[in-house]
Parts: sequence; structure tokens; C-alpha cells
Amino acid sequence: MPEVVIDHKEELKWENKLIDSYTNESRDDGKVHVSDLLICMRKPEIQRQYEPSWTMRTLLMFTFGKSFEKFIFQTILPEATRELEVEEDGIVGHIDFATDDLDYECKLTWTKERDDPNDLFEKQWYWLEQAGTYAIMRRRYSCRFAVIHIPSWPVPSLRIYRVTWTKEELGELWEIMQNRKEYYLSMITQGKYPHKTQHKQFCKSCAVEEICGKLSEG
Ligand code: SF4
Repeated sequence: MPEVVIDHKEELKWENKLIDSYTNESRDDGKVHVSDLLICMRKPEIQRQYEPSWTMRTLLMFTFGKSFEKFIFQTILPEATRELEVEEDGIVGHIDFATDDLDYECKLTWTKERDDPNDLFEKQWYWLEQAGTYAIMRRRYSCRFAVIHIPSWPVPSLRIYRVTWTKEELGELWEIMQNRKEYYLSMITQGKYPHKTQHKQFCKSCAVEEICGKLSEG
């Protein structure tokens, strides 16, 4: 058996390079992004103001996701437009992969694939809000999700889901997103923080949880 040791020095070098590669990636273009209006409207504002440092785990997850997208672009959807910017009524979004047929969102999830896809999408409702908003901007009723499922036992699986909304569903979604945008902008204009998310399960993994707790509600 050869000698095996953890090379902490080299590890640190890699970690620093990873951190450097994400420095200056903060997005402060003064626009309201679809992602700002999803799980918690307070979080993006705190992130912009305090620029918290990301944990290594989060950066590795970002990198994992980016690698998956790069593979898709190079190998499966070279004809697609990657990160297509779409904008309507003051809301901006970036579609992972836009094609003439359907657009794609790419996701990683730590959940197992299920026989009934509704189980997944009920839990990941914000994926649908995000992609549904893009569909409205693209004047479409459908899109696809390419999802890598990585459950606790590390055997990944790939699933492609096709989602189709009704006109009424997208109409309701657009109204919700517009209302959120108005609220978000009114709070920002008044120099206040938007309210905390009602979905408290997301606070546990929030990079700004500590700062958030110290700030006034609005
Ligand atoms: S801790 Fe919770 S409420 Fe506060 S910013 Fe993060 S997700 Fe939002």
C-alpha cells in the first residue's frame, strides 16, 4: 500500500482559485431579475449590499452545474443560444438554453427521480415559476427541464421533463410576478428591505441568514 495523504496545501490553492473565478460575478445592473422574484425577494437585495462570501460547498455546486451546462451546450444543444436574455415589463431573465423549438432549463437536485414528475415539481415550484415566466416572455406554453438527480446515494440519473401550461395558468403567473415586482421596487425605492420569505425551509441554507436576522423587516 503506497503512502496516501491529504495534500492540504494543494487543496487550498485549488480553493483559492475557485473563489477567484467567482469574484466579480456579482450582478448589480439595477434591473429586476426573474430570480429576484422567486423564493425570497429580501435575499438578492442583502446579497447586493453585503456581498457575502460563498461557502466552498456552494461554489462547488455552482461549478458542478456549470460543467453540466457546458457539456449540454457542446455536445447536445450546440445550436441553442446559451443564457438568452429576455425582458418584458421591467423584468429580466436569462434562459439556460433557447432553441427554435423549446427552451431548456438545467437543474441539479439532491432528490431521487420519481415515477410521478408532479412530486418533483410540486416541491420545486419555483423552477416552474421561473420557466413559466420565461415562457410568457417567449410567447410559448411549453419548455423542457434537463435535470440531474443526485440523491444521497451518489448515483446520478438524467431526466428530461416537458412542461406545458395553459393560457390561464400563465396569465395568473404573470400577474403574480408583476405584483411582486411592484412590491420589490417600492421597497427598494423607499430604502427598505422586502419582507422575509414565507418558505422558511430555504433560510437554513441561505448565505445571508445571519445578516438577514439583524436587519429590520422593512
Ligand atoms: S434568511 Fe430567509 S428570509 Fe432572510 S434573506 Fe435568507 S431566505 Fe430570505
